[in-house]
Amino acid sequence: MFVVDLIRLTLTFFVFLMPYSVTRNLVTGGAGFLGSHLCDRLMEAGEEVICLDNYFTGRKQNISQWIGNPRFELIRHDVTEPIKVEVDRIWHLACPASPVHYQFNPVKTAKTSFLGTYNMLGLANRVGARLLLASTSEVYGDPEVHPQPESYKGCVNTIGIRSCYDEGKRIAETLCFDYQRMHNTEIRVMRIFNTYGPRMLPDDGRVVSNFIVQALKGESLTLYGDGSQTRSFCYVDDLIEGMIKLMNGNHSGPMNIGNPTEFTIRNLAELVRKKINSNLELIYQQLPQDDPLQRKPDIQLAQKELSWTHQVDLDQGLDQTIDYFRRGLNL
Ligand code: NAD
Ligand code: UDP
Repeated sequence: MFVVDLIRLTLTFFVFLMPYSVTRNLVTGGAGFLGSHLCDRLMEAGEEVICLDNYFTGRKQNISQWIGNPRFELIRHDVTEPIKVEVDRIWHLACPASPVHYQFNPVKTAKTSFLGTYNMLGLANRVGARLLLASTSEVYGDPEVHPQPESYKGCVNTIGIRSCYDEGKRIAETLCFDYQRMHNTEIRVMRIFNTYGPRMLPDDGRVVSNFIVQALKGESLTLYGDGSQTRSFCYVDDLIEGMIKLMNGNHSGPMNIGNPTEFTIRNLAELVRKKINSNLELIYQQLPQDDPLQRKPDIQLAQKELSWTHQVDLDQGLDQTIDYFRRGLNL
């Protein structure tokens, strides 16, 4: 009799109580490049997802696979306005990331960074949610320290064309730590280094998508400056794995997540050319103002705290990304 009662009790627990223990996530910028990959991972893990986006650079087609799923909700909303939802976790990604897009309306970018983060921290504080901020390597500006550890304070122009984004993310980080000090809000601050992969927009303007789309169309590849500036490119799947580990771990951050293998932009152009069409020309255009000359993450903190490191190298990641654009552009 006792065993039967025990089974009945266990069944009652699973049928009635378990559904309420599913983690409820709010993903701001969820229809964008990184946000949509994050929504995929959370949905595949059986969690609930509210995807919030104003579709400035995001697309419904990035998350269309989840529309109609009872665990998934889509909200058109601008994070510069407050919102009330009951959630356990806030993944705050809403903000244009490509220089072309964030410079389109720089005042709006600054508002999105400050007011958006302020509104999301207010929500996190009210409902007791943990918030992860998608910050950026741009907080280091044009760095004089190489590679960049989290302790480096940065070299950022306050009045240049990149400042709306760089300073926007710096004040967003400041807000997070002030909320933690004042209200004990649980925060995670992730400094994301250049990330690429499927679902970048063809007209995104960032270097990986630009080179691939140009090469697939048989056009010349546009190098800004002499192409000797460096970046370290992380494949999207690795980045999302790091993001989830940071959210689930105990370290508030700030924490660098990125692939530490450094390439010049000319190396990248050569690699894309070799993979798609070696006959394409490289054309040199003016280097934009304040374009950082070198960038490479020091990822020792992520390795120590999260046992995280990248798994996909640029060669493999580019193949996946080229396949995606080839299918999308029908080339
Ligand atoms: P993305 O432009 O593809 O995605 C941003 C998403 O936010 C889009 O869906 C856009 O429509 C949405 N959005 C923008 N402003 C909004 C607003 N005011 N209200 C609601 N939604 C808004 O860019 P991404 O590469 O996916 O970047 C996501 C986040 O990661 C950004 O915060 C970005 O700063 C950060 N980040 C990305 C990289 C990278 O290499 N991809 C590097 C550093 C930091
Ligand atoms: N870049 C380039 N050609 C392009 C696009 C970008 O040479 O068509 C350069 C750009 O000047 C920068 C680097 O590539 O030095 C990375 O640019 P991206 O916009 O991808 O990212 P971020 O500058 O924000 O790191």
